[in-house]
Amino acid sequence: MNFLEERILKDGIVKEGNVLKVDSFLNHQMDIDLINEMGREWKRRFADKNINKILTIEASGIGIACIVAQHFGVPVVFAKKSKSINIAGDVYVAEVESFTHKNTNQVIVSKSFLNEEDHVLLIDDFLANGCALQGLISIVHEAGATVEGIGIAVEKGFQTGGKIIRNLGYDLESLAIVDGMNAETGEVYFRKQD
Ligand code: 5GP
Repeated sequence: MNFLEERILKDGIVKEGNVLKVDSFLNHQMDIDLINEMGREWKRRFADKNINKILTIEASGIGIACIVAQHFGVPVVFAKKSKSINIAGDVYVAEVESFTHKNTNQVIVSKSFLNEEDHVLLIDDFLANGCALQGLISIVHEAGATVEGIGIAVEKGFQTGGKIIRNLGYDLESLAIVDGMNAETGEVYFRKQD
């Protein structure tokens, strides 16, 4: 069991509706030593990749991405949730359906901060159905940039996102893959990883 899986067992809370709360250490209160360890681990897993930028999505991806970026020595760009309609112009746009909030947001990235010379590592806290990641991937493609890899803290392996993203051929490295959880007992089951 790795350091993140151990922490999830210790402090994660299983909620009804397939929601895992990790807000005491990952996406509300943040344990910086833990996130630093995650950055070190992704740097090791993506050691052979030439990454010059990290892309994440507002809001909970930002803090994690900033700590991780220190291990790669690259800037972080985050996709912003935008209420106004951006049809074209100086931003890349994608539609993202939120798993937790059950609504759809338009997310945007300025064309100034992503272009065809960029080799991007995508970072996010959770992967559930994959909508957030697919939005980020489409923005990278729109920019003509390259997705070098994807780092996810917690993948919920019983939802479809991980399978879809791996079938598309992306190098997806999830530090913890939850294959099942029980809201009554609070138990969490992890997929074995090498
Ligand atoms: P997806 O787009 O893959 O369906 O969902 C990913 C996004 O939904 C993540 O950015 C994360 O913020 C949120 N999310 C999905 N599942 C969970 C969960 O079980 N717990 C928490 N805290 N957030 C989740």
